Amino acid sequence: MIKLHDKYFKPFISAKEIDDVIQRLVIEIAEDVGDETPVFVGILNGSFMVVSDFVKKYPKPCEVTFIKLASYEGVKSTEDIQRLIGLTQDLTGRTVIILEDIIDSGNTLAEVHRIFENEKVKSLKIATLFYKPEAYKKDYKLHYVGIEIPNKFIVGFGLDYDGLGRNLPEIYQIKETQHMTNLV
Ligand code: 5GP
Repeated sequence: MIKLHDKYFKPFISAKEIDDVIQRLVIEIAEDVGDETPVFVGILNGSFMVVSDFVKKYPKPCEVTFIKLASYEGVKSTEDIQRLIGLTQDLTGRTVIILEDIIDSGNTLAEVHRIFENEKVKSLKIATLFYKPEAYKKDYKLHYVGIEIPNKFIVGFGLDYDGLGRNLPEIYQIKETQHMTNLV
Protein backbone atom coordinates (compact mmCIF):
# COMPACT_ATOMS: atom_id res chain seq x y z
CA MET A 1 0.00 0.00 0.00
CA ILE A 2 1.20 3.54 -0.75
CA LYS A 3 0.03 7.00 0.30
CA LEU A 4 -0.06 9.96 -2.11
CA HIS A 5 -1.23 13.24 -0.61
CA ASP A 6 -4.31 12.29 1.45
CA LYS A 7 -5.20 9.00 -0.29
CA TYR A 8 -4.12 5.35 -0.02
CA PHE A 9 -3.55 3.13 -3.04
CA LYS A 10 -3.15 -0.65 -3.27
CA PRO A 11 -1.14 -2.63 -5.88
CA PHE A 12 -3.37 -3.48 -8.86
CA ILE A 13 -1.48 -4.30 -12.10
CA SER A 14 2.17 -5.38 -12.12
CA ALA A 15 4.89 -3.93 -14.34
CA LYS A 16 5.25 -7.37 -16.00
CA GLU A 17 1.56 -7.50 -16.89
CA ILE A 18 1.72 -3.98 -18.35
CA ASP A 19 4.77 -4.94 -20.40
CA ASP A 20 3.03 -8.06 -21.78
CA VAL A 21 -0.05 -6.03 -22.73
CA ILE A 22 2.01 -3.37 -24.52
CA GLN A 23 3.83 -6.13 -26.42
CA ARG A 24 0.47 -7.58 -27.51
CA LEU A 25 -0.75 -4.14 -28.67
CA VAL A 26 2.48 -3.56 -30.61
CA ILE A 27 2.10 -6.88 -32.46
CA GLU A 28 -1.58 -6.20 -33.29
CA ILE A 29 -0.91 -2.66 -34.50
CA ALA A 30 2.25 -3.53 -36.47
CA GLU A 31 0.32 -6.27 -38.30
CA ASP A 32 -2.53 -3.90 -39.18
CA VAL A 33 -0.24 -1.05 -40.24
CA GLY A 34 1.75 -3.29 -42.61
CA ASP A 35 4.26 -1.36 -44.72
CA GLU A 36 2.98 2.14 -43.90
CA THR A 37 5.13 4.34 -41.68
CA PRO A 38 2.70 5.28 -38.90
CA VAL A 39 2.67 8.42 -36.79
CA PHE A 40 2.01 7.62 -33.13
CA VAL A 41 0.39 10.52 -31.31
CA GLY A 42 0.68 10.40 -27.51
CA ILE A 43 -1.68 12.39 -25.32
CA LEU A 44 0.31 14.11 -22.58
CA ASN A 45 0.89 14.05 -19.74
CA GLY A 46 -0.30 10.56 -18.84
CA SER A 47 0.78 8.71 -21.98
CA PHE A 48 4.52 9.38 -21.85
CA MET A 49 5.39 5.97 -20.37
CA VAL A 50 3.06 4.02 -22.66
CA VAL A 51 4.43 5.80 -25.72
CA SER A 52 8.03 5.29 -24.65
CA ASP A 53 7.61 1.55 -23.97
CA PHE A 54 5.40 1.08 -27.03
CA VAL A 55 7.72 2.64 -29.59
CA LYS A 56 10.78 0.87 -28.17
CA LYS A 57 9.03 -2.41 -28.99
CA TYR A 58 7.69 -1.27 -32.39
CA PRO A 59 9.57 -3.39 -34.95
CA LYS A 60 9.52 -1.02 -37.94
CA PRO A 61 10.18 2.69 -38.69
CA CYS A 62 7.63 5.02 -37.16
CA GLU A 63 7.20 8.66 -36.14
CA VAL A 64 6.18 9.95 -32.70
CA THR A 65 4.55 13.21 -31.73
CA PHE A 66 2.49 14.51 -28.80
CA ILE A 67 -0.60 16.57 -28.03
CA LYS A 68 -1.01 17.98 -24.53
CA LEU A 69 -4.53 18.03 -23.09
CA ALA A 70 -5.77 18.38 -19.52
CA SER A 71 -9.13 17.26 -18.11
CA TYR A 72 -8.68 15.67 -14.71
CA GLU A 73 -9.04 17.55 -11.43
CA GLY A 74 -7.92 15.42 -8.47
CA VAL A 75 -9.68 12.07 -8.92
CA LYS A 76 -12.54 13.35 -11.16
CA SER A 77 -12.78 13.67 -14.94
CA THR A 78 -14.13 17.02 -16.14
CA GLU A 79 -15.75 17.95 -19.47
CA ASP A 80 -13.66 21.06 -19.71
CA ILE A 81 -10.71 19.83 -21.76
CA GLN A 82 -7.88 22.29 -22.12
CA ARG A 83 -5.76 22.12 -25.27
CA LEU A 84 -2.32 23.02 -23.96
CA ILE A 85 -0.31 21.95 -27.02
CA GLY A 86 -2.11 21.01 -30.24
CA LEU A 87 -0.87 19.25 -33.35
CA THR A 88 2.45 20.71 -34.43
CA GLN A 89 2.95 18.89 -37.73
CA ASP A 90 1.06 18.30 -40.95
CA LEU A 91 -0.36 14.76 -40.94
CA THR A 92 -2.02 14.88 -44.37
CA GLY A 93 -2.18 11.41 -45.89
CA ARG A 94 -0.62 9.75 -42.85
CA THR A 95 -1.61 6.62 -40.93
CA VAL A 96 -2.20 7.98 -37.43
CA ILE A 97 -2.53 5.94 -34.24
CA ILE A 98 -3.47 7.79 -31.07
CA LEU A 99 -1.75 6.28 -28.03
CA GLU A 100 -3.73 6.93 -24.84
CA ASP A 101 -2.83 5.92 -21.31
CA ILE A 102 -6.45 5.52 -20.21
CA ILE A 103 -9.94 6.14 -21.56
CA ASP A 104 -12.46 7.00 -18.86
CA SER A 105 -15.47 9.20 -19.79
CA GLY A 106 -14.18 9.66 -23.35
CA ASN A 107 -14.17 13.49 -23.06
CA THR A 108 -10.48 13.66 -23.90
CA LEU A 109 -11.04 11.36 -26.86
CA ALA A 110 -13.82 13.66 -28.11
CA GLU A 111 -11.33 16.54 -28.04
CA VAL A 112 -8.80 14.41 -29.94
CA HIS A 113 -11.45 13.80 -32.63
CA ARG A 114 -12.17 17.54 -32.78
CA ILE A 115 -8.45 18.19 -33.30
CA PHE A 116 -8.36 15.72 -36.20
CA GLU A 117 -11.70 16.83 -37.74
CA ASN A 118 -10.05 19.00 -40.35
CA GLU A 119 -6.87 16.98 -40.82
CA LYS A 120 -6.84 14.96 -44.03
CA VAL A 121 -5.18 11.89 -42.52
CA LYS A 122 -5.27 8.55 -44.34
CA SER A 123 -6.56 6.76 -41.24
CA LEU A 124 -7.05 7.53 -37.56
CA LYS A 125 -7.12 4.75 -35.01
CA ILE A 126 -7.29 4.80 -31.24
CA ALA A 127 -5.17 2.63 -28.95
CA THR A 128 -5.39 2.77 -25.17
CA LEU A 129 -3.53 0.87 -22.47
CA PHE A 130 -6.39 1.06 -19.96
CA TYR A 131 -10.13 1.41 -20.55
CA LYS A 132 -12.96 1.89 -18.05
CA PRO A 133 -16.04 0.56 -19.92
CA GLU A 134 -18.43 1.54 -17.09
CA ALA A 135 -17.33 5.17 -17.31
CA TYR A 136 -17.21 5.52 -21.12
CA LYS A 137 -19.97 7.83 -22.39
CA LYS A 138 -19.05 8.24 -26.07
CA ASP A 139 -19.55 6.24 -29.28
CA TYR A 140 -16.07 6.55 -30.75
CA LYS A 141 -14.62 3.19 -31.68
CA LEU A 142 -11.62 2.07 -29.64
CA HIS A 143 -9.52 0.04 -32.06
CA TYR A 144 -6.92 -1.36 -29.65
CA VAL A 145 -7.58 -1.84 -25.93
CA GLY A 146 -4.96 -3.12 -23.50
CA ILE A 147 -6.75 -3.87 -20.23
CA GLU A 148 -10.35 -3.19 -19.22
CA ILE A 149 -10.52 -2.02 -15.61
CA PRO A 150 -13.30 -1.16 -13.14
CA ASN A 151 -14.43 2.44 -12.74
CA LYS A 152 -11.98 3.24 -9.94
CA PHE A 153 -9.17 5.77 -9.87
CA ILE A 154 -5.68 4.40 -10.57
CA VAL A 155 -2.17 5.82 -10.45
CA GLY A 156 1.24 4.77 -11.73
CA PHE A 157 2.86 4.16 -15.10
CA GLY A 158 2.43 7.81 -16.12
CA LEU A 159 -0.90 8.39 -14.34
CA ASP A 160 -0.93 10.79 -11.40
CA TYR A 161 -2.96 11.89 -8.44
CA ASP A 162 -2.46 15.65 -8.20
CA GLY A 163 1.05 15.40 -9.63
CA LEU A 164 2.23 12.35 -7.72
CA GLY A 165 2.53 8.72 -8.77
CA ARG A 166 3.51 9.11 -12.43
CA ASN A 167 6.94 7.56 -11.81
CA LEU A 168 5.59 4.29 -10.39
CA PRO A 169 6.41 1.39 -12.76
CA GLU A 170 3.21 -0.50 -11.83
CA ILE A 171 -0.45 0.47 -11.35
CA TYR A 172 -2.10 1.12 -7.99
CA GLN A 173 -5.85 1.43 -7.39
CA ILE A 174 -7.41 3.86 -4.95
CA LYS A 175 -8.35 2.26 -1.66
CA GLU A 176 -11.92 3.18 -0.81
CA THR A 177 -12.56 4.21 2.76
CA GLN A 178 -15.00 2.02 4.75
CA HIS A 179 -17.59 4.77 4.34
CA MET A 180 -17.20 4.92 0.54
CA THR A 181 -17.27 1.10 0.21
CA ASN A 182 -20.63 1.01 1.96
CA LEU A 183 -22.06 3.39 -0.61
CA VAL A 184 -21.14 1.25 -3.63
P1 5GP B 1 -11.48 10.97 -19.94
O1 5GP B 1 -11.42 12.28 -20.67
O2 5GP B 1 -11.67 9.77 -20.86
O3 5GP B 1 -12.51 10.99 -18.84
O4 5GP B 1 -10.13 10.78 -19.19
C1 5GP B 1 -8.96 10.70 -19.88
C2 5GP B 1 -7.82 11.30 -19.13
O5 5GP B 1 -8.12 11.50 -17.75
C3 5GP B 1 -6.64 10.36 -19.18
O6 5GP B 1 -5.82 10.66 -20.25
C4 5GP B 1 -5.99 10.58 -17.83
O7 5GP B 1 -5.07 11.64 -17.93
C5 5GP B 1 -7.11 10.97 -16.93
N1 5GP B 1 -7.66 9.80 -16.19
C6 5GP B 1 -8.76 9.08 -16.47
N2 5GP B 1 -8.95 8.08 -15.57
C7 5GP B 1 -7.92 8.18 -14.70
C8 5GP B 1 -7.52 7.41 -13.56
O8 5GP B 1 -8.16 6.44 -13.11
N3 5GP B 1 -6.39 7.83 -12.94
C9 5GP B 1 -5.64 8.90 -13.36
N4 5GP B 1 -4.56 9.18 -12.66
N5 5GP B 1 -5.98 9.63 -14.44
C10 5GP B 1 -7.10 9.27 -15.10
